[in-house]
Amino acid sequence: MLRDLICELQDLDLQLGVPMSRHTTFRIGGKADAMLCPRSAEEILRAVAACQRFNVPFVVIGNGSNLLVKDGGIRGLVIKIGPKMSSMALDGETAFAQAGARLSAFVSECMRQGLCGLAFAGGIPGTVGGGVLMNAGAYGSELKDVLTEVEYIDPKKGVCGRRAIAEGDFEYRSSIFAKNGWIVTGARFRLRRGAAETERALFEEYQQRRREKQPLNLPSAGSVFKRPSGHFAGALIEQAGLKGAAVGGAQVSKLHAGFIVNTGGATAADVLALIERNKKDVRQAFGVSLEEELKVIGE
Ligand SMILES: Cc1cc2nc3c(=O)[nH]c(=O)nc-3n(C[C@H](O)[C@H](O)[C@H](O)COP(=O)(O)OP(=O)(O)OC[C@H]3O[C@@H](n4cnc5c(N)ncnc54)[C@H](O)[C@@H]3O)c2cc1C
Repeated sequence: MLRDLICELQDLDLQLGVPMSRHTTFRIGGKADAMLCPRSAEEILRAVAACQRFNVPFVVIGNGSNLLVKDGGIRGLVIKIGPKMSSMALDGETAFAQAGARLSAFVSECMRQGLCGLAFAGGIPGTVGGGVLMNAGAYGSELKDVLTEVEYIDPKKGVCGRRAIAEGDFEYRSSIFAKNGWIVTGARFRLRRGAAETERALFEEYQQRRREKQPLNLPSAGSVFKRPSGHFAGALIEQAGLKGAAVGGAQVSKLHAGFIVNTGGATAADVLALIERNKKDVRQAFGVSLEEELKVIGE
């Protein structure tokens, strides 16, 4: 029971009745029963073991930038891997970050120290852990291209492990870590020493492209749908006449139809209704099935 769990974890950074709208870039979501902000992999292991012992469900989140939390909130424990697990270590051409480090901060640090290869990820508003889980990518590159090793927890076995990245561990916006329900606690990347100015210029160019093409002034969870083979989700949605379509406070972005934005007071129900409308209209118009990239959790 939740009460037993709270007692067991009372010495940790545990909060109760936490509005998830404060922990998602969509600014949407009901309350989570409890949220733990762990300081170490050991604390995560302890929390997971306690959840199993007391039969309390748990979910891991990072920066909540790919999440839609439903309006009824989340029963059980949210383990938010964030600033308290965000150390970084750069050595030669290897760069390590704990899962809670923001990708933007990690990429900046790598660039500051003359390491090249991650400029594509500098504008992705998630954590290293969430990025690894999702195999986040942009501008023709994905995190898997530069990852060498991942530190993780297997909740079923209750152990920490390290995995040297192998062929087949990643696919478009998914990973072996997602499929197995493993919790990412850190990641190591192989970068290269190079011209800092060239890397910085590339980073600035990507940032400029984001500012021009993405509705960064309104809360969202980025691209709602995965890229369907041979198409772009945003283009299909636009051609189906849905640009600017709205349900309640949720709107298909007028700037980029692949995004749904929260124009103020949107509920998860609004977003879900708009997602269904996008899927239905695109299927009817083009016979293409759209699949969500964002993760929907809660009740
Ligand atoms: C404006 C905007 C632009 C974006 N642009 C891009 C882009 O260019 N490319 C791209 O790929 N994505 C993009 N995204 C989506 C999002 O930023 C990425 O998917 C990001 O990697 C999610 O990281 P997060 O820490 O926010 O994860 P969350 O959203 O918190 O979680 C996402 C998933 O990962 C799981 N998870 C999170 N952390 C861990 C962990 N440590 N261990 C195990 N599971 C974990 C969660 O359970 C959930 O299933 C964008 C989003 C926004 C809002």
